[in-house]
Amino acid sequence: MSMTSAPSMDSFWMPFTANRQFKANPRMFESAEGMYYKTPDGRSVLDSTAGLWCVNAGHGRTQISEAVSRQVQNLDFAPTFQLCHPMAFELAERLTKLSPEGMDHVFFCNSGSESVDTALKIALAYHRAKGDSGRTRLIGREKGYHGTGFGGISVGGLVNNRRAFGSLLTGVDHLKHAWTPGTEFTKGQPEVGANLADELEGIIALHGAETIAAVIVEPIAGSGGVWIPPKGYLQRLRDITRKHGILLIFDEVITGFGRIGGAFASTHFDITPDLMTSAKGLTNGAIPMGAVFVSNDIHDAFMTGPEEAIELFHGYTYSAHPVACAAALATLDIYERENLFNKAYELGEYWQEQLHSLKEFDVVKDIRNYGLVGGIEFHTGDKPGQRGYDVFEHCFWKGNVMVRYTMDILAMSPPLIVEKEHIDEAITALRNGIKALY
Ligand code: PMP
Repeated sequence: MSMTSAPSMDSFWMPFTANRQFKANPRMFESAEGMYYKTPDGRSVLDSTAGLWCVNAGHGRTQISEAVSRQVQNLDFAPTFQLCHPMAFELAERLTKLSPEGMDHVFFCNSGSESVDTALKIALAYHRAKGDSGRTRLIGREKGYHGTGFGGISVGGLVNNRRAFGSLLTGVDHLKHAWTPGTEFTKGQPEVGANLADELEGIIALHGAETIAAVIVEPIAGSGGVWIPPKGYLQRLRDITRKHGILLIFDEVITGFGRIGGAFASTHFDITPDLMTSAKGLTNGAIPMGAVFVSNDIHDAFMTGPEEAIELFHGYTYSAHPVACAAALATLDIYERENLFNKAYELGEYWQEQLHSLKEFDVVKDIRNYGLVGGIEFHTGDKPGQRGYDVFEHCFWKGNVMVRYTMDILAMSPPLIVEKEHIDEAITALRNGIKALY
């Protein structure tokens, strides 16, 4: 159908959105700069979520747009199957300077979901390359979000994302969600709950370690509602997986690139996984790109292993797309020059105190935070998810602040260029919204 004036709003099937509901009340952005979006009705809306956890250096960075535009002119596309371009190697090497020691290899893809499926496939192929082909089971966690590929939803633990799609991958188990009742309103990491990782020993006992390929967790769970790992929990997972020869995958799609202080959660917590997924902040959200960091041990298994294992039969037309590489290199320059991976350390405490000031409302059930991530959970009202949606809507239209909601939990993750006044602005909009609604 040809377009006349305004589009009908029926043709685009929106992701994770009820089109009918959206159509009745469309929330649109037209442009963006720094910490703010501009709406078609001329309002500035504070971006308290860095887009979808990705615009870590803030919007409208000319260094990125110029690098992208130069790159499209100079080399718009080059295959990376059997042929390549130098920037792919340059970016990979640059990235490994940020990853934990011993993770010196990077596989490129185009999104967080692809990075998850890539990491799971590498884990399976690694065991096979080592002659350990019985290790095929994968273990995720309740409430985990690992994107929307079949691998990602299989190890993911969000019921709504799984149940419409059949039997998914077989041989997948899930750890319990790592949160303990009674730890509501903890600032930062809860003191209790590290022992929840011990459940992994139970799963291992049930199936036998020799059947398990990998465990995947988000170091800080974002999309499932902002869940902070208890102190010692991640280390305990590392110890158990290592003891049993099971690979540990950190899904750092949200935690990567400065979100909690330092480049990654792995470097922040000083825990080295075997594989690490990333996307989002890698290119500041400007061009789709994902990257999987791979340990030297895994990489060596392919590079020096049996002849049939030397090639990984996996990849994407757009793996290490030159334009995405250019965007990523420009983004890394900005992070470095502006010292943005330190921002969560500089402002984390202020962020924490302002967020927790919302505890005054009875309707607030819990507040969780770490680095520059915040979650506010409401007591569920008559209809699950309604309160989250209502506060989100109020903030957007009346408070001029964009937050994100997952059922009755609001999530916030501002661009790392955030300053105290933006935090104040976001909290004021939330406070006014909650006051007006309840
Ligand atoms: N893993 C995690 C931890 C994520 O938060 C997300 C996206 N929110 C994904 C994977 C999927 O990323 P994408 O939407 O780019 O496929």
